[in-house]
Amino acid sequence: MIPYGRQNISQEDIDAVVEVLRSDFLTQGPVVPEFEKVVANYCGAKHAAAVNSATGALHIACLALEVGPGDLVWTSPITFVASANCALYCGAEVDFVDIDPDTYNMSATRLAEKLEHAKRNGRLPKVVIPVHLSGQSCDMERIHALSIEYGFRIIEDASHAIGGSYKGEKIGNCRYSDITVFSFHPVKIITTGEGGMAMTNDPALLKRMARFRSHGITRYPSEMTCPPDGPWYYQQIDLGFNYRMTDIQAALGVSQMRRLDEFVTKRHAIAQHYEELLKDTPIVRPWQHPDAHSALHLYIVRLPADTMKASHREVFERMRADGIGVNVHYIPLYRQPYYERMGFQATDFPEAERYYGEAITIPIYPGLTAEQQGEVVARLLAPSGYQTIF
Ligand SMILES: *Cc1c(COP(=O)(O)O)cnc(C)c1O
Repeated sequence: MIPYGRQNISQEDIDAVVEVLRSDFLTQGPVVPEFEKVVANYCGAKHAAAVNSATGALHIACLALEVGPGDLVWTSPITFVASANCALYCGAEVDFVDIDPDTYNMSATRLAEKLEHAKRNGRLPKVVIPVHLSGQSCDMERIHALSIEYGFRIIEDASHAIGGSYKGEKIGNCRYSDITVFSFHPVKIITTGEGGMAMTNDPALLKRMARFRSHGITRYPSEMTCPPDGPWYYQQIDLGFNYRMTDIQAALGVSQMRRLDEFVTKRHAIAQHYEELLKDTPIVRPWQHPDAHSALHLYIVRLPADTMKASHREVFERMRADGIGVNVHYIPLYRQPYYERMGFQATDFPEAERYYGEAITIPIYPGLTAEQQGEVVARLLAPSGYQTIF
């Protein structure tokens, strides 16, 4: 089976983890802050809070921005469930903004229309969570301008996007957002096994996120309600969680960061090869916006319903049967039973619906060989899949 994504672990990665295993601290030692510094420096963000997953990072990001009951959070319907669940954890309500037909990211035009409508109804969102699908940045300049006009905050779900850039700057520098979240799950660009990080330039948000990731507890006298009783003293200020990252995970993260640019370069070479293999076919390749340099976490193709002989489902089933680990990223969130029960109508998201009927993720990861790519494309274009135009 050729998977759609896969981690890349070197001997140096293994050595870095073993070194922590032999050290005094398996968790809450020196390596987590080191990893935070490495990622913050790479992205050009002032602060970072490492956590045990991007899901945890999204949750503490919402809490830090004081999302709560009565609030609305908007995101893209074409994302993983965590991008929306984080708002529900806080007791807020979720709504979706339809996608752009070319990038498959949240459409800034649809967002502007929906905001205008929401303003008239007095139901503006408190937070908008744009998701950089596949690692390609959303139209952040425009979304940021809308946030000023309508008064909402922004959390970038950059789970796919570490190593990517927007307008010549690294994603994660938070130029257009309050907080940016990364995931280090093994299928993502770099991995810590499980893990995530929340980037921000606002020291107050960092402080709040750092508390929420560890039970709502502080050990800093400056954050306490009274002088410490003694050197043992700490205070619980908020109701937080245990979302901490371990030093074992952070060591893998620091080591993986050394190869981040290499990973992204390799992903671009793979995408370039797919482009050559698919260029004279009706298969729609991922369109790259000139403002964005994608990290290329996913390689999503579309099978235009009107030119394919086999259905989307038939192509998918055939590829899986032939050992190609294709996937669909994602089932629109409003179609999930949990969200469906909230009353969402698929007809409100025509671009997401069209996308869902045509999109297939084919394998991309640094270890994928040109030969394997040839195999993937051969299966994708197998005779039954096509009309006879070529
Ligand atoms: C993977 C992913 C998440 C969740 O990441 P975890 O680290 O597994 O919690 C959130 N949002 C998106 C878009 C993702 O792809």
